[in-house]
Amino acid sequence: MKKVSIVVPCYNEEESLPIFYDEVEKITKKLDAEIEYVFINDGSKDNTLKIIRFLAKKDKRVRYVSFSRNFGKEAAMLAGLEYATGDYVTTMDADLQDPPELLLEMFDALENEDYDICAAKSKSRNGYSFLRKSFTKWFYKIIAKISKTEMVDGARDFRLMKRIVVDAIISMKEYNRYSKGLFSFVGFDTKWIEFENKERVAGTTKWNFWKLFSYAIEGIVAFSTTPLIIAAGVGIILCVVSFLMILFIIARTLIFGDPVSGWPSLVCIIFFLSGIQLFATGIIGEYLAKTYLETKKRPIYIVKETEKNIKKEK
Ligand code: UDP
Ligand code: MG
Repeated sequence: MKKVSIVVPCYNEEESLPIFYDEVEKITKKLDAEIEYVFINDGSKDNTLKIIRFLAKKDKRVRYVSFSRNFGKEAAMLAGLEYATGDYVTTMDADLQDPPELLLEMFDALENEDYDICAAKSKSRNGYSFLRKSFTKWFYKIIAKISKTEMVDGARDFRLMKRIVVDAIISMKEYNRYSKGLFSFVGFDTKWIEFENKERVAGTTKWNFWKLFSYAIEGIVAFSTTPLIIAAGVGIILCVVSFLMILFIIARTLIFGDPVSGWPSLVCIIFFLSGIQLFATGIIGEYLAKTYLETKKRPIYIVKETEKNIKKEK
């Protein structure tokens, strides 16, 4: 019998977790597989850890990892994938926005259809704000143009993967993790299942505009070097333009003499060029900063407690 690990990153999910566990239990009963839960408490400030401990005491199949502070969903997913021992591993949000009933179809695709990954993709973005919807749409348009790694619009982190895929993802030890890119980078045969997006069952989203914006920049920097090429390209274009301007000014001075004028235009040009220079330096700086963080080789997460701790308590 196959073992399926369910990895759940949780950050302040005290309201959703009990509902999540009950709903998933209903589905997993129908699966002809051994089940293991791996909850990751990502430094929650509410009672999430207490609920997880409670579940772990009552249900032997529940394992958990609790971080020393909030390290972010990417770190939580990595920890979950590293701790999971199943033949098949799935990552699910705790808010039930990833419909558990899809697990049945996913399991079937891996068992009987020879796929390595079965992933969920939402048809719509119901349950998200207008700003977030349009921002996400633009992000996918841009990244499709500038990155070789394909990012599927609407793809969620909800997917069932074979062990070989999980090992491939864990083997990528980069500090700046952008899972949608990593999932796509490793390849393998993927089956996509579409579904209508739902609102979260309880609690609130952990993302605000700036978090999402910097996550998007992270994705671009991690999976594309095109911004650097754009910066260099703008530099070359400006060199050509300034060379033409020099020719123009020499010709004009030779023909019409040299009355002292053009101060305002000069100031405008200086402002424009300094702006572009700072912008380009900013882009380079962003890549440098990421390189700096990678070279430090800091741990991606720090564990404070796992389910082994509570067994000792008893
Ligand atoms: N999450 C996490 N760490 C964070 C933020 C979120 O582990 O710093 C978890 C969260 O508990 C949830 C999942 O990631 O299980 C998705 O978060 P959320 O529902 O807030 O994201 P959204 O659905 O709005 O994209
Ligand atoms: Mg959600």
